[in-house]
Amino acid sequence: MDFDVIVIGSGFGGAITACRLAERNYKVLVLERGRRWDKTTYPRAATDPWTWNPSRPETENGWLDLRTFGHIAVAQGAAVGGGSLIYANISCEAPERTFTQGWPAEITYAELKPHYDAVATFMNVQTVPDTQWTERMRLMKEGAEKIGHGDRFKKLELAVTFDPPYVPGPGDPHDPQNIAKSRTFTNAQGVEQGTCVHLGNCDIGCDVDARNTLDKNYIPWAEKHGADVRALHLVTNVEPIAGGYKVSFDRLDTGVRVPDSQTARIVILAAGTLGSTDLLLRCRDLTKSLPNVSARLGFGWSSNGDFLTPAFYQDRAVEPSHGPTITCAIDFLDGSENGQRFWIQDGGFPNMLADFLKGEGDGAHRGLMAQTLITSIQHLLQGAEPLKTVMPWFAQGVDGSDGQLKLSTNPFTGDTSLDLDWDITKSEPVMNQIVSTHLQLSALTGGHPLVPPTWSLFKYLITPHPLGGCGMGASGASGVVNHAGEVFGYRNLYVADGAIIPGALGVNPSRTIGALAERVAKILGDDGR
Ligand SMILES: Cc1cc2nc3c(=O)[nH]c(=O)nc-3n(C[C@H](O)[C@H](O)[C@H](O)COP(=O)(O)OP(=O)(O)OC[C@H]3O[C@@H](n4cnc5c(N)ncnc54)[C@H](O)[C@@H]3O)c2cc1C
Ligand code: SF4
Repeated sequence: MDFDVIVIGSGFGGAITACRLAERNYKVLVLERGRRWDKTTYPRAATDPWTWNPSRPETENGWLDLRTFGHIAVAQGAAVGGGSLIYANISCEAPERTFTQGWPAEITYAELKPHYDAVATFMNVQTVPDTQWTERMRLMKEGAEKIGHGDRFKKLELAVTFDPPYVPGPGDPHDPQNIAKSRTFTNAQGVEQGTCVHLGNCDIGCDVDARNTLDKNYIPWAEKHGADVRALHLVTNVEPIAGGYKVSFDRLDTGVRVPDSQTARIVILAAGTLGSTDLLLRCRDLTKSLPNVSARLGFGWSSNGDFLTPAFYQDRAVEPSHGPTITCAIDFLDGSENGQRFWIQDGGFPNMLADFLKGEGDGAHRGLMAQTLITSIQHLLQGAEPLKTVMPWFAQGVDGSDGQLKLSTNPFTGDTSLDLDWDITKSEPVMNQIVSTHLQLSALTGGHPLVPPTWSLFKYLITPHPLGGCGMGASGASGVVNHAGEVFGYRNLYVADGAIIPGALGVNPSRTIGALAERVAKILGDDGR
């Protein structure tokens, strides 16, 4: 065998399993379809490589992979470091009661807690210092109080390094004098970073390296322990061979697809909710290299109840482009609002994104949903100082978790691609509760909300938090993998990413995915596999 372990993907599941197994002296190979990025290469101009094109990944391999399906769109990362490169840094635990239903009996909150803590320590999570509150935090707190739920407001932990003595000023955070206030330091994994100076660019890459993304901690630590991390390697098949598996992939680093393969005793799929499910579906149904994967594959997919309602404030500087993208929540996860479990968060967006959206013309090339959404945002951005006065009220909730990922073949081209059946019926009550809370928060704080017409007209959603598809279960009849992430019917074949989560969390999922990955690696290593 070429390696002890091949890990497919380098997001939360992949980076963490690779790191922990490399620490235990496993010979680890990580195959990641996306590029390596750093602050000198982050896309900035409209012509830069922003997006990943699944039809032409050898030439279009930007870091945002946006998939539009019939009733929902999914945003995910494609990069060394996976979704962490473009995420909003929120690192939170799921509520204790999440694990009481639908999860394998072996996993409880108490059992997962040490793994949650391991992720928090390694990613150096922290809340916004009290001297650095953003205008959006103040609006969130005021909103919570005005709707009679001040006690539900809380600051959240972020994978960002703050400098407590820094005090953000009222001016443009991109002013060189402000940027110069970022303090350089070396993190616990030996990587140089800077402290946060509220640039508001979290979702498009931090210009001062204040975000504690996976490429700043777990991945360099894995490499320090001998892991071989290969960017622009797109895995296409996994096939059992004597003593392990053969993993086939296309190298994309030459602008054309160059097929190759490597072998290992153990394979860990960590290609994300869509990626791992897609790969297993292809292996089960197309190449038939893994014909015995459970019939549950693809079922139980969740949008995690994500929803965003922008609101326009006439006389209030909300400054959505200043400070970390998300910082706090108003927590209704106890089900006290008509039995629906959700929380509200402050959203934000980089200046550059707003400029980009304002400048986007009519897009005949775009789908109806994307154009409807862009037109409504442009309408909102037309005010005198639109960038200062928009509050993107954000939320996640416990949805119906009843989507199904499946393969679908185009009858004209014969191409097979991933498809998603999503029916809003079971999820509509929680989404309606979120919208009504957003409207209440906006109204009582003097804002004019614009419920996206994509929702009000078409019940169309967009989520950055896809979950499920290879859910955990007690057997192959109820799940695709067991509580330790091992695929039923295939010894030493694992899934360790958001795909194994058996239903909505209702909160930002990366810390839970990370904790489960820590747990998969520990069980596998302790077992001496
Ligand atoms: C804009 C945005 C903001 C977000 N903000 C937050 C937040 O604040 N907090 C939070 O908790 N979560 C947030 N998320 C969600 C979070 O990023 C994901 O939940 C998390 O990254 C999922 O981890 P994962 O390991 O399952 O998959 P990913 O992180 O998606 O990693 C999967 C990796 O596998 C690679 N891959 C896929 N297919 C293949 C293949 N065939 N071969 C090789 N490699 C492959 C992908 O390129 C990717 O790098 C956000 C997401 C987005 C898009
Ligand atoms: S707010 Fe700015 S400085 Fe702080 S982490 Fe986000 S991008 Fe970096």
